[in-house]
Amino acid sequence: MKTFNYHSAKDVKEASKLSSSKSAFLAGGMTTIPSMKLGLANYKDIINIKGIKKLSGIKVSGKTVTIGSTTKHVEVANSKEIKKAIPSLSVLAEGIGDPQVRNRGTIGGSIANNDPAADYPSACIALNAVIHTNNRKINAEKFFTGMFETCLKGGEIIESIEFTIPQKSSYQKYPNPASRYAIVGVYVAKHKSGVNVAVTGAKSCVYNDKNLSGILSKSFSADAINNTKVSSSGMNSDIHASADYRANMVKVFAKKAVEAC
Ligand SMILES: Cc1cc2nc3c(=O)[nH]c(=O)nc-3n(C[C@H](O)[C@H](O)[C@H](O)COP(=O)(O)OP(=O)(O)OC[C@H]3O[C@@H](n4cnc5c(N)ncnc54)[C@H](O)[C@@H]3O)c2cc1C
Repeated sequence: MKTFNYHSAKDVKEASKLSSSKSAFLAGGMTTIPSMKLGLANYKDIINIKGIKKLSGIKVSGKTVTIGSTTKHVEVANSKEIKKAIPSLSVLAEGIGDPQVRNRGTIGGSIANNDPAADYPSACIALNAVIHTNNRKINAEKFFTGMFETCLKGGEIIESIEFTIPQKSSYQKYPNPASRYAIVGVYVAKHKSGVNVAVTGAKSCVYNDKNLSGILSKSFSADAINNTKVSSSGMNSDIHASADYRANMVKVFAKKAVEAC
């Protein structure tokens, strides 16, 4: 039997104070609970943050969409405001896992966990997101630091994620047929300041393909990347796809995304 202390935090300050190197925050529980059940993780304290009202909700302003960290995937998928401001973000949320996962999993839990094949990290990079925590604001490019790693410090809680509304955007992924995690996912966003091509599933951590981003910033058309080769160096190779296959998928999906914008 696995024993742990369960806490239901009334506010962010209390949740942060309760945390330690042996605790986890409970948002959707879609990673934490299975990890504990499978014996992959063991926590002394589980701190439920779902009751903290300020962590949930969607706000669209002129230039940004801000999503509270405990907002569920289903809420992002169904939000009329997001569908209008950044339709590709709703499409991404609609493609996560299955209805059970979308009805419990949260955006904050997803980016804190930083699974190499998760969808939201690519949206954060492509949409120049700013991650608001209880201590600071972090640019997405600095937030994701490695496989299942972020720059979050002990006791730091993601409060919300602020996305910049792009001129055009599209997210295209090849989902794992069982889990729907991305074997490769490519999020293309065209901003006034330039284009971002964010890739998930291909390497150990989400990244901005600076080469593709640079080419598309100069000429935003699928044909512009026809003659570019995406290197397979550092790409994942497993039973689902080889590194070379993934590298080719990055290019194919980047083209598809540009065409869908
Ligand atoms: C069967 C299955 C299929 C899935 N398919 C996909 C998929 O296709 N695409 C995809 O992207 N994801 C997928 N997921 C992941 C899922 O979407 C969840 O987003 C993810 O599991 C974590 O979110 P959560 O809210 O459940 O977090 P939890 O499990 O509650 O927490 C996960 C971690 O994040 C930390 N955390 C949570 N909230 C915060 C916060 N606000 N601040 C700081 N730290 C925090 C916790 O301490 C914990 O370490 C799948 C999961 C399952 C079980």
